[in-house]
Amino acid sequence: MIVFNKPYCSGRELKYIEEVSHSMTMSGNGDFTKKCHAFFEQKYGFRKCLLTTSGTDALEMCAMLCDLQPGDEVIIPSYTFVSTALAFLREKANVVFADSSAESPNITAEIIEPLITPRTKVIAVVHYAGIACDMDAIMALADKHNLLVVEDAAHAIDSCYKGRPLGSIGHLAAFSFHETKNISCGEGGMLVVNDERFVRRSEIIWEKGTNRAEFYRGMVNKYGWCDLGSSFLPSEFNAAFLWAQLEQLDDIQNKRKHIWEIYDHALRGHVDETKMQLPVLPDYATNNAHMYYIVCQSLDYRTRLMQYLKDNGVQSTFHYIPLHSSKYYAEHFKGAPLVNADRYGDCLVRLPLYYELTGDEARKVAQLILEFAQNN
Ligand SMILES: *Cc1c(COP(=O)(O)O)cnc(C)c1O
Repeated sequence: MIVFNKPYCSGRELKYIEEVSHSMTMSGNGDFTKKCHAFFEQKYGFRKCLLTTSGTDALEMCAMLCDLQPGDEVIIPSYTFVSTALAFLREKANVVFADSSAESPNITAEIIEPLITPRTKVIAVVHYAGIACDMDAIMALADKHNLLVVEDAAHAIDSCYKGRPLGSIGHLAAFSFHETKNISCGEGGMLVVNDERFVRRSEIIWEKGTNRAEFYRGMVNKYGWCDLGSSFLPSEFNAAFLWAQLEQLDDIQNKRKHIWEIYDHALRGHVDETKMQLPVLPDYATNNAHMYYIVCQSLDYRTRLMQYLKDNGVQSTFHYIPLHSSKYYAEHFKGAPLVNADRYGDCLVRLPLYYELTGDEARKVAQLILEFAQNN
Protein backbone atom coordinates (compact mmCIF):
# COMPACT_ATOMS: atom_id res chain seq x y z
CA MET A 1 0.00 0.00 0.00
CA ILE A 2 1.36 3.44 -0.91
CA VAL A 3 -0.10 5.66 1.79
CA PHE A 4 -0.94 9.32 1.22
CA ASN A 5 1.37 10.80 3.87
CA LYS A 6 4.14 9.69 6.19
CA PRO A 7 5.42 12.32 8.60
CA TYR A 8 9.17 12.83 8.28
CA CYS A 9 11.53 12.11 11.18
CA SER A 10 15.17 13.16 11.05
CA GLY A 11 16.18 10.80 13.87
CA ARG A 12 17.40 13.55 16.21
CA GLU A 13 13.96 14.55 17.49
CA LEU A 14 14.11 12.24 20.50
CA LYS A 15 17.62 13.32 21.42
CA TYR A 16 16.55 16.96 21.56
CA ILE A 17 13.35 16.12 23.40
CA GLU A 18 15.45 14.27 25.96
CA GLU A 19 17.64 17.35 26.35
CA VAL A 20 14.52 19.37 27.12
CA SER A 21 13.34 16.85 29.69
CA HIS A 22 16.66 17.20 31.53
CA SER A 23 16.68 20.98 31.32
CA MET A 24 15.10 23.55 33.58
CA THR A 25 12.83 24.93 30.86
CA MET A 26 10.10 22.74 29.46
CA SER A 27 7.51 25.47 29.02
CA GLY A 28 7.70 27.85 26.08
CA ASN A 29 10.19 30.42 24.83
CA GLY A 30 13.29 28.49 25.91
CA ASP A 31 16.48 27.73 23.98
CA PHE A 32 14.95 25.57 21.24
CA THR A 33 12.17 28.09 20.62
CA LYS A 34 14.76 30.86 20.34
CA LYS A 35 16.89 28.77 17.98
CA CYS A 36 13.88 28.18 15.73
CA HIS A 37 12.98 31.90 15.75
CA ALA A 38 16.53 32.90 14.88
CA PHE A 39 16.71 30.30 12.10
CA PHE A 40 13.61 31.64 10.38
CA GLU A 41 14.47 35.29 10.92
CA GLN A 42 17.97 34.87 9.50
CA LYS A 43 17.21 32.50 6.64
CA TYR A 44 14.09 34.23 5.37
CA GLY A 45 14.44 37.81 6.60
CA PHE A 46 11.20 37.68 8.59
CA ARG A 47 11.06 40.73 10.88
CA LYS A 48 9.80 38.76 13.88
CA CYS A 49 8.84 35.12 14.36
CA LEU A 50 6.82 33.55 17.16
CA LEU A 51 6.25 29.80 17.29
CA THR A 52 2.66 28.86 18.04
CA THR A 53 0.87 25.65 18.93
CA SER A 54 -0.70 25.47 15.45
CA GLY A 55 -1.07 27.30 12.17
CA THR A 56 -4.63 28.03 13.27
CA ASP A 57 -3.30 29.80 16.36
CA ALA A 58 -0.93 31.83 14.21
CA LEU A 59 -3.87 32.90 12.05
CA GLU A 60 -5.87 33.79 15.16
CA MET A 61 -2.99 35.98 16.29
CA CYS A 62 -2.95 37.64 12.85
CA ALA A 63 -6.67 38.34 13.13
CA MET A 64 -6.29 39.77 16.66
CA LEU A 65 -3.45 42.02 15.50
CA CYS A 66 -5.61 43.38 12.65
CA ASP A 67 -7.78 44.97 15.36
CA LEU A 68 -11.06 44.46 13.53
CA GLN A 69 -14.41 45.99 14.46
CA PRO A 70 -17.64 43.95 14.17
CA GLY A 71 -18.76 44.10 10.55
CA ASP A 72 -15.32 44.81 9.11
CA GLU A 73 -14.73 42.71 6.03
CA VAL A 74 -11.90 40.31 5.30
CA ILE A 75 -11.43 38.90 1.80
CA ILE A 76 -10.25 35.27 1.75
CA PRO A 77 -10.32 32.48 -0.82
CA SER A 78 -13.22 30.07 -0.47
CA TYR A 79 -10.94 27.21 -1.46
CA THR A 80 -8.90 27.02 1.74
CA PHE A 81 -8.77 25.31 5.11
CA VAL A 82 -11.41 26.38 7.65
CA SER A 83 -8.83 28.10 9.88
CA THR A 84 -8.30 30.96 7.41
CA ALA A 85 -11.95 31.92 7.91
CA LEU A 86 -12.33 30.91 11.56
CA ALA A 87 -9.58 33.22 12.76
CA PHE A 88 -11.37 36.29 11.42
CA LEU A 89 -14.91 35.17 12.25
CA ARG A 90 -13.83 34.79 15.89
CA GLU A 91 -12.94 38.50 15.79
CA LYS A 92 -16.53 39.22 14.66
CA ALA A 93 -15.44 40.25 11.19
CA ASN A 94 -17.36 39.23 8.08
CA VAL A 95 -15.52 37.03 5.65
CA VAL A 96 -16.01 37.71 1.95
CA PHE A 97 -15.17 34.67 -0.13
CA ALA A 98 -13.15 35.10 -3.30
CA ASP A 99 -13.13 32.61 -6.14
CA SER A 100 -9.90 30.88 -7.15
CA SER A 101 -8.37 31.62 -10.52
CA ALA A 102 -8.88 29.24 -13.44
CA GLU A 103 -5.17 28.37 -13.54
CA SER A 104 -4.71 27.48 -9.86
CA PRO A 105 -6.52 27.61 -6.51
CA ASN A 106 -4.77 30.93 -5.74
CA ILE A 107 -6.65 34.22 -5.73
CA THR A 108 -5.52 37.23 -7.78
CA ALA A 109 -5.75 41.02 -7.58
CA GLU A 110 -8.30 40.97 -10.44
CA ILE A 111 -10.55 38.64 -8.47
CA ILE A 112 -10.11 40.55 -5.21
CA GLU A 113 -10.64 44.11 -6.45
CA PRO A 114 -14.40 43.96 -7.19
CA LEU A 115 -14.97 42.53 -3.68
CA ILE A 116 -13.47 45.56 -1.92
CA THR A 117 -15.98 47.81 -0.12
CA PRO A 118 -15.55 50.71 2.34
CA ARG A 119 -15.68 48.08 5.15
CA THR A 120 -12.84 45.94 3.79
CA LYS A 121 -9.86 45.89 6.16
CA VAL A 122 -7.85 42.79 5.30
CA ILE A 123 -6.95 40.56 2.38
CA ALA A 124 -5.84 37.08 3.45
CA VAL A 125 -4.15 35.13 0.66
CA VAL A 126 -3.27 31.44 0.63
CA HIS A 127 -0.23 30.33 -1.35
CA TYR A 128 -1.82 27.08 -2.41
CA ALA A 129 0.56 24.12 -2.70
CA GLY A 130 3.37 26.49 -1.72
CA ILE A 131 3.13 28.31 -5.05
CA ALA A 132 3.06 32.08 -4.64
CA CYS A 133 0.10 34.34 -5.36
CA ASP A 134 1.06 37.36 -7.50
CA MET A 135 1.99 39.44 -4.47
CA ASP A 136 3.13 42.66 -6.20
CA ALA A 137 -0.34 43.13 -7.66
CA ILE A 138 -2.03 42.20 -4.37
CA MET A 139 0.19 44.47 -2.25
CA ALA A 140 -0.40 47.37 -4.69
CA LEU A 141 -4.15 46.85 -4.40
CA ALA A 142 -3.90 46.75 -0.60
CA ASP A 143 -1.84 49.94 -0.63
CA LYS A 144 -4.35 51.71 -2.81
CA HIS A 145 -7.22 50.84 -0.45
CA ASN A 146 -5.25 51.01 2.78
CA LEU A 147 -5.74 47.32 3.63
CA LEU A 148 -3.65 44.85 5.59
CA VAL A 149 -2.40 41.70 3.91
CA VAL A 150 -2.13 38.42 5.82
CA GLU A 151 -0.33 35.55 4.09
CA ASP A 152 -1.69 32.15 5.03
CA ALA A 153 1.64 30.50 4.28
CA ALA A 154 0.69 27.16 5.83
CA HIS A 155 1.86 25.33 2.68
CA ALA A 156 4.59 27.74 1.80
CA ILE A 157 7.72 27.20 3.87
CA ASP A 158 10.92 27.76 1.90
CA SER A 159 9.22 29.07 -1.23
CA CYS A 160 9.66 32.43 -2.96
CA TYR A 161 7.98 35.15 -4.96
CA LYS A 162 10.42 37.03 -7.21
CA GLY A 163 13.23 35.94 -4.94
CA ARG A 164 11.43 37.02 -1.76
CA PRO A 165 10.49 34.30 0.74
CA LEU A 166 6.76 33.73 1.13
CA GLY A 167 5.68 34.95 4.53
CA SER A 168 7.96 38.00 4.29
CA ILE A 169 5.74 40.05 1.98
CA GLY A 170 2.42 40.67 3.74
CA HIS A 171 2.10 42.67 6.95
CA LEU A 172 1.59 39.38 8.80
CA ALA A 173 1.93 35.71 7.91
CA ALA A 174 1.08 32.31 9.39
CA PHE A 175 2.90 29.00 8.86
CA SER A 176 1.83 25.52 9.92
CA PHE A 177 3.97 22.65 11.18
CA HIS A 178 1.13 20.13 11.24
CA GLU A 179 2.28 16.61 10.40
CA THR A 180 1.00 16.96 6.83
CA LYS A 181 3.23 19.96 6.07
CA ASN A 182 6.83 19.84 4.73
CA ILE A 183 8.35 20.23 8.19
CA SER A 184 6.40 19.45 11.30
CA CYS A 185 6.28 18.98 15.04
CA GLY A 186 2.96 17.11 15.08
CA GLU A 187 0.87 20.19 15.76
CA GLY A 188 2.61 23.54 15.48
CA GLY A 189 2.77 26.82 13.67
CA MET A 190 4.41 30.21 13.53
CA LEU A 191 3.35 33.83 13.35
CA VAL A 192 5.50 36.14 11.25
CA VAL A 193 5.30 39.88 11.82
CA ASN A 194 6.81 41.95 9.02
CA ASP A 195 5.28 45.33 9.88
CA GLU A 196 7.07 47.00 12.77
CA ARG A 197 3.78 48.39 14.11
CA PHE A 198 2.68 44.93 15.22
CA VAL A 199 5.88 43.62 16.79
CA ARG A 200 5.35 44.63 20.42
CA ARG A 201 1.68 43.68 20.55
CA SER A 202 2.36 40.30 18.92
CA GLU A 203 4.58 39.26 21.85
CA ILE A 204 1.97 40.38 24.36
CA ILE A 205 -0.85 38.49 22.65
CA TRP A 206 1.44 35.44 22.48
CA GLU A 207 2.10 35.54 26.25
CA LYS A 208 -1.49 35.67 27.59
CA GLY A 209 -1.77 39.43 27.30
CA THR A 210 1.30 40.06 29.46
CA ASN A 211 4.65 41.69 28.74
CA ARG A 212 6.53 38.65 30.07
CA ALA A 213 8.77 38.43 26.97
CA GLU A 214 10.04 41.97 27.65
CA PHE A 215 10.58 41.05 31.30
CA TYR A 216 12.74 38.06 30.33
CA ARG A 217 14.82 40.30 28.10
CA GLY A 218 15.36 42.61 31.07
CA MET A 219 13.51 45.50 29.43
CA VAL A 220 11.03 45.94 32.32
CA ASN A 221 11.50 44.99 35.98
CA LYS A 222 8.13 43.36 36.45
CA TYR A 223 5.54 42.05 34.08
CA GLY A 224 1.79 42.32 34.12
CA TRP A 225 -1.44 42.27 32.21
CA CYS A 226 -1.39 44.74 29.28
CA ASP A 227 -3.82 43.55 26.61
CA LEU A 228 -5.91 40.65 25.31
CA GLY A 229 -4.07 37.47 24.46
CA SER A 230 -3.97 33.75 24.96
CA SER A 231 -1.51 30.95 25.54
CA PHE A 232 -0.23 30.67 22.01
CA LEU A 233 3.34 29.56 22.68
CA PRO A 234 4.28 25.89 22.34
CA SER A 235 6.32 24.00 24.90
CA GLU A 236 10.02 23.41 24.40
CA PHE A 237 9.26 19.78 23.49
CA ASN A 238 7.53 20.93 20.31
CA ALA A 239 10.30 23.39 19.50
CA ALA A 240 12.96 20.69 20.05
CA PHE A 241 11.18 18.37 17.63
CA LEU A 242 10.87 21.17 15.09
CA TRP A 243 14.55 22.08 15.44
CA ALA A 244 15.57 18.54 14.48
CA GLN A 245 13.56 19.00 11.29
CA LEU A 246 14.95 22.46 10.53
CA GLU A 247 18.47 21.05 10.64
CA GLN A 248 17.44 18.81 7.73
CA LEU A 249 15.37 21.36 5.83
CA ASP A 250 17.46 21.37 2.64
CA ASP A 251 17.52 17.59 2.47
CA ILE A 252 13.75 17.39 3.02
CA GLN A 253 13.06 19.99 0.35
CA ASN A 254 15.37 18.39 -2.20
CA LYS A 255 13.80 15.00 -1.69
CA ARG A 256 10.29 16.38 -2.05
CA LYS A 257 11.20 18.33 -5.17
CA HIS A 258 12.69 15.21 -6.69
CA ILE A 259 9.39 13.34 -6.22
CA TRP A 260 7.40 16.31 -7.49
CA GLU A 261 9.52 16.34 -10.66
CA ILE A 262 8.91 12.63 -11.21
CA TYR A 263 5.14 13.18 -11.11
CA ASP A 264 5.39 16.23 -13.31
CA HIS A 265 7.66 14.59 -15.84
CA ALA A 266 5.38 11.57 -16.10
CA LEU A 267 2.10 13.51 -16.39
CA ARG A 268 2.85 16.82 -18.13
CA GLY A 269 3.32 15.27 -21.58
CA HIS A 270 -0.13 13.65 -21.43
CA VAL A 271 -2.42 16.54 -20.48
CA ASP A 272 -4.08 16.54 -23.92
CA GLU A 273 -5.19 12.92 -23.60
CA THR A 274 -5.94 12.92 -19.87
CA LYS A 275 -7.62 16.38 -19.94
CA MET A 276 -6.15 16.92 -16.47
CA GLN A 277 -5.10 20.33 -15.19
CA LEU A 278 -1.70 20.25 -13.48
CA PRO A 279 -0.01 22.74 -11.12
CA VAL A 280 1.26 25.91 -12.80
CA LEU A 281 4.53 27.51 -11.75
CA PRO A 282 4.45 31.17 -12.86
CA ASP A 283 7.82 32.83 -13.65
CA TYR A 284 7.65 34.69 -10.34
CA ALA A 285 7.22 31.59 -8.18
CA THR A 286 9.49 28.82 -6.92
CA ASN A 287 8.35 25.32 -6.06
CA ASN A 288 8.65 24.01 -2.49
CA ALA A 289 7.03 20.71 -3.47
CA HIS A 290 4.45 20.88 -0.72
CA MET A 291 1.98 19.05 -2.91
CA TYR A 292 1.43 17.45 -6.27
CA TYR A 293 -2.16 17.71 -7.41
CA ILE A 294 -4.15 16.99 -10.52
CA VAL A 295 -7.53 18.49 -11.42
CA CYS A 296 -9.81 16.01 -13.15
CA GLN A 297 -12.52 16.81 -15.69
CA SER A 298 -15.44 16.01 -13.34
CA LEU A 299 -16.41 14.88 -9.87
CA ASP A 300 -17.46 11.53 -11.25
CA TYR A 301 -14.11 11.08 -12.97
CA ARG A 302 -12.29 11.98 -9.77
CA THR A 303 -14.33 9.54 -7.70
CA ARG A 304 -13.58 6.72 -10.10
CA LEU A 305 -9.90 7.61 -10.42
CA MET A 306 -9.44 7.65 -6.64
CA GLN A 307 -11.19 4.28 -6.41
CA TYR A 308 -8.94 2.88 -9.16
CA LEU A 309 -5.85 4.09 -7.30
CA LYS A 310 -7.15 2.58 -4.09
CA ASP A 311 -7.90 -0.74 -5.77
CA ASN A 312 -4.28 -0.71 -6.89
CA GLY A 313 -2.86 0.03 -3.46
CA VAL A 314 -2.49 3.82 -3.68
CA GLN A 315 -4.07 6.26 -1.26
CA SER A 316 -4.91 9.66 -2.74
CA THR A 317 -7.07 12.39 -1.24
CA PHE A 318 -9.17 15.29 -2.35
CA HIS A 319 -8.73 18.61 -0.58
CA TYR A 320 -10.98 21.42 0.61
CA ILE A 321 -14.73 21.66 0.45
CA PRO A 322 -15.07 25.32 -0.59
CA LEU A 323 -15.95 27.20 2.59
CA HIS A 324 -18.82 29.15 1.02
CA SER A 325 -20.65 25.88 0.37
CA SER A 326 -19.73 24.21 3.67
CA LYS A 327 -22.40 23.00 6.07
CA TYR A 328 -21.55 25.77 8.54
CA TYR A 329 -21.51 28.65 6.09
CA ALA A 330 -23.67 27.85 3.04
CA GLU A 331 -26.85 29.49 4.37
CA HIS A 332 -24.98 32.75 5.08
CA PHE A 333 -23.34 32.93 1.67
CA LYS A 334 -24.87 35.64 -0.50
CA GLY A 335 -22.21 36.16 -3.17
CA ALA A 336 -22.09 35.18 -6.82
CA PRO A 337 -21.25 31.54 -7.65
CA LEU A 338 -17.57 30.68 -7.16
CA VAL A 339 -17.13 28.35 -10.08
CA ASN A 340 -13.41 27.67 -9.82
CA ALA A 341 -13.51 27.05 -6.07
CA ASP A 342 -16.36 24.58 -6.67
CA ARG A 343 -14.42 22.94 -9.48
CA TYR A 344 -11.31 22.44 -7.33
CA GLY A 345 -13.56 21.18 -4.55
CA ASP A 346 -15.06 18.57 -6.90
CA CYS A 347 -12.14 17.68 -9.12
CA LEU A 348 -8.78 18.14 -7.39
CA VAL A 349 -6.80 15.06 -6.22
CA ARG A 350 -3.60 15.14 -4.18
CA LEU A 351 -1.01 12.44 -4.78
CA PRO A 352 1.25 10.85 -2.14
CA LEU A 353 4.31 13.06 -1.58
CA TYR A 354 6.67 12.62 1.36
CA TYR A 355 10.30 12.08 2.18
CA GLU A 356 10.16 8.30 2.29
CA LEU A 357 8.25 7.87 -0.97
CA THR A 358 10.58 6.29 -3.50
CA GLY A 359 10.97 7.30 -7.13
CA ASP A 360 9.60 3.92 -8.19
CA GLU A 361 6.52 4.39 -6.04
CA ALA A 362 5.89 7.82 -7.56
CA ARG A 363 6.34 6.43 -11.08
CA LYS A 364 3.88 3.66 -10.25
CA VAL A 365 1.27 6.19 -9.09
CA ALA A 366 1.72 8.26 -12.26
CA GLN A 367 1.51 5.09 -14.39
CA LEU A 368 -1.79 4.11 -12.76
CA ILE A 369 -3.21 7.56 -13.48
CA LEU A 370 -2.24 7.31 -17.15
CA GLU A 371 -3.63 3.78 -17.37
CA PHE A 372 -6.92 4.93 -15.91
CA ALA A 373 -7.05 7.89 -18.30
CA GLN A 374 -6.54 5.63 -21.29
CA ASN A 375 -9.60 3.60 -20.42
CA ASN A 376 -11.86 6.46 -19.35
C1 LIG B 1 -2.73 23.35 7.55
C2 LIG B 1 -3.40 24.65 7.22
C3 LIG B 1 -3.83 25.55 8.19
C4 LIG B 1 -3.90 25.22 9.65
O1 LIG B 1 -2.75 24.82 10.23
P1 LIG B 1 -2.81 23.92 11.57
O2 LIG B 1 -1.38 23.89 11.96
O3 LIG B 1 -3.34 22.57 11.17
O4 LIG B 1 -3.67 24.61 12.55
C5 LIG B 1 -4.32 26.78 7.79
N1 LIG B 1 -4.40 27.12 6.50
C6 LIG B 1 -4.02 26.27 5.52
C7 LIG B 1 -4.11 26.71 4.10
C8 LIG B 1 -3.54 25.00 5.85
O5 LIG B 1 -3.19 24.14 4.87
